Amino acid sequence: MSAIPPGVATGGAYRTLLRACQMGSYALPAVNVSSSSTANAALAAARANRADIIIQISAGGARFYAGQSLPDEQQARILGAVALARHVHLLARHYGVAVILHTDHANRPLLGWIDGLVEESRRHHEQTGQPLFSSHMLDLSTEPVADNIATAATLMKKLSPLGIGLEIELGITGGEEDGIGNELHGTGPADHPSLYTSPEDVLTAWKTLSPLGMLSIAASFGNVHGVYAPGNVRLRPDILRRSQALVAERLQTGPNPVPLVFHGGSGSDEDAIKQAVSFGVFKFNIDTDTQFAYAQGVARYMQEHEEAFAHQVSPVTGRPLKKQYDIRTWMKAGEDSFIQRLTDSFRVLGAQGRSTARQP
Ligand SMILES: [Zn+2]
Repeated sequence: MSAIPPGVATGGAYRTLLRACQMGSYALPAVNVSSSSTANAALAAARANRADIIIQISAGGARFYAGQSLPDEQQARILGAVALARHVHLLARHYGVAVILHTDHANRPLLGWIDGLVEESRRHHEQTGQPLFSSHMLDLSTEPVADNIATAATLMKKLSPLGIGLEIELGITGGEEDGIGNELHGTGPADHPSLYTSPEDVLTAWKTLSPLGMLSIAASFGNVHGVYAPGNVRLRPDILRRSQALVAERLQTGPNPVPLVFHGGSGSDEDAIKQAVSFGVFKFNIDTDTQFAYAQGVARYMQEHEEAFAHQVSPVTGRPLKKQYDIRTWMKAGEDSFIQRLTDSFRVLGAQGRSTARQP
């Protein structure tokens, strides 16, 4: 298997990494971050597991990264995503792993955000030969498939010369993530027909778009963002198997030709995850579970050091408590728990010990 240099993988290196996942039948966690703390925890988790990783940011996460007080929301989203990208470009190679940098769900109102980031990548490419992001996501899953594909084609023509890939969504992911959501009517998300894509749509999209550049497809198979009570989510990974089989048969390719993406990975059953990976999922989105892990780590720390969050000096011993309430201590507790949760994800996805990054 060919190696790529440690750091952010774009263009040919991104393609090599996709192929390594496809040939090795494993997937990478795509973890949402919204701060340097969570970005560093993601990098640390990858290094600890000798695995490559996908780091992604949503429009809301990017706005947070830039700081909440900037008045121009669109500008803040662009600046925040650029800040994260530069942060990861600077640090990733020192962690010795390959990182795919990606932006999460962009629906039609967020196309301006992507256009702004493409412009930033163009500038970065002129200076360094690399775009800022490895890939972007376009989520027009609630629109007719023809409109979805047509807009994706236009965008890919801008992305490909810069070595940036595109992820599209076919069939919708239920639930809500960062204000982009699909409320489903009825008792719960389970079995809603729009949550299941059709293999024919996957074939049409792949046939039209894959010649234009590096395409990946979030083909929904019952996925829902967030974690729900048992019984509310019914995953049907067989849709992925049938989609791959149809493309392979019609276009005379090898097995699992389409790089697939699993949304709403949090809370999913381990068998369904492994099955989806065996059907060509290379990217496994995880956000809710890692956020909960971070929160749990901080909560445990605060419970254990309750006194330090009420007093600067201990009323019992008279000693200063700065070392315990120091921001770095409780953030580290959150990061450690985040890393632990990601380690479990690397294990389930078969990614441990499989980093493709080698020092040239
Ligand atoms: Zn998603």
